[in-house]
Amino acid sequence: MGRIGRIKTAHGELLTPTLMPVIDPADIVLKPKEMRREFGTELVITNAYLTMLHFGKNPDLKIHQILDYDGPIMTDSGGYQILRYGNIDVPPEEIVRYQELISPDIATILDIPTGINASREYAAETVKITLERAKQAVEIRSNPEVMWCGPIQGGLFTDLVEYSAREMGKLDYQFHAIGSPVELLNEYRYAEVVDLVMAAKRNLPLDRPVHLFGAGHPMMLSLAVAMGCDLFDSAAYILFARDGRYMTAEGTLHLDELDFLPCECPVCASTTVKEIKREKEDEKVKLLARHNLHVTFGEIRRIRQAIADGRLWEYVQIKCRAHPSLLEAFQRFLEYGDFIERFDPVTKRTAFFYSGSESIKRPEVLRHRQRIKRYTPPQLETLIIFPGFGEKKIDVEGAHLLKIVPPFGVVPEELEEVYPLSQHEVPKELDAEMARYTAESLEAYLKTHGGRYQQVILFNDEKRWGEMLVKACHPVAEKLEVVQISEKI
Ligand SMILES: [Zn+2]
Repeated sequence: MGRIGRIKTAHGELLTPTLMPVIDPADIVLKPKEMRREFGTELVITNAYLTMLHFGKNPDLKIHQILDYDGPIMTDSGGYQILRYGNIDVPPEEIVRYQELISPDIATILDIPTGINASREYAAETVKITLERAKQAVEIRSNPEVMWCGPIQGGLFTDLVEYSAREMGKLDYQFHAIGSPVELLNEYRYAEVVDLVMAAKRNLPLDRPVHLFGAGHPMMLSLAVAMGCDLFDSAAYILFARDGRYMTAEGTLHLDELDFLPCECPVCASTTVKEIKREKEDEKVKLLARHNLHVTFGEIRRIRQAIADGRLWEYVQIKCRAHPSLLEAFQRFLEYGDFIERFDPVTKRTAFFYSGSESIKRPEVLRHRQRIKRYTPPQLETLIIFPGFGEKKIDVEGAHLLKIVPPFGVVPEELEEVYPLSQHEVPKELDAEMARYTAESLEAYLKTHGGRYQQVILFNDEKRWGEMLVKACHPVAEKLEVVQISEKI
């Protein structure tokens, strides 16, 4: 579901997935212009409510002047301020009109964030009010240069999130944002973020870019992209820096616990922990903020390349080993396999790499399993079962050859060129789950089709498989002949 997108705005094009650094209009530490030069930043995000408080309503003052930036700018409405500080004292329609006035490229209506401690009743209320405001905003809008983002609420109540996404998806919005993950992310409750995002994604129009609020830490980015999120904001780069926190793609470290700078960015390559600590507070914050942005944008570029290569799955699988909570989230993500499979390309330019037992739940494996259920074997009396890796060839005229190809399962010889049945790499040492999954596939095949053969010959590679395949042949036990194969066959 991860994708590379191109968005055209009134201030130029941008590629997704992308990170939007959050700019505080009243206290700009790193200038957006400089960010574009140093990090390749395309889109930045700022808060419309705070901008209004600080600069007032001046019809001649556009957001691009305020931030001194001529690239694409998104504004958030102030909804997050509600979550942090309680209500804000501006009517929602005024926030819409104000954004039309300052003319960002993408604007957001004033939603009511559900948060994660909401009762069901309150959560339903936030969804209802946010939808009403979204409808009202459609009526008010008139600035053709501004695209609009409709936020999805519902918090931990996934049925409310689904409803919110379905209804918001019917309205005239170009973007959607998924609310409430910030608190979950802070507490490492990534599995719940997966449920939240998947509830929204399964009900939103898939052609609209999705912004995952507050998810700007490089740790979680690849999984979020794999779920189909396109835009991420980061206030964390500066908030963490002020707190002495140093981001890495595997987690967060504190300057005080660092002996070395484990990073190749220009900041880390040209200084040391001691030198950073000796800097004045302002300069220290700047250095850490720059490092944090370098790491995050680097991760975005790696994710883009992984998508282009058709390797996002492997990439996420590696990344999710950085923290047990991430691994748990990845396992939760796999439970949505049937849905994910619908969006996974049937062929890719790179081979399938087995990277751990989660690989057996990959779309390519699920897809092959579904296809084999629809398969009809040719009319041949003898079935030869061969636990073959690609390099081993067997040619027996007049017999039907069935290959055992972990983790996909059984592969009839005539289908073995179908991607990725020959285009994959699997360790020769089978792990228990991969072996079990594959043997189950053989058993299922023989239960369905075993009756049509007069004779079944299993070439057993005992070293690798032990008795597993022989046992899986029990549906054809009375006509089975087992031949032990040597390495040389
Ligand atoms: Zn660095």
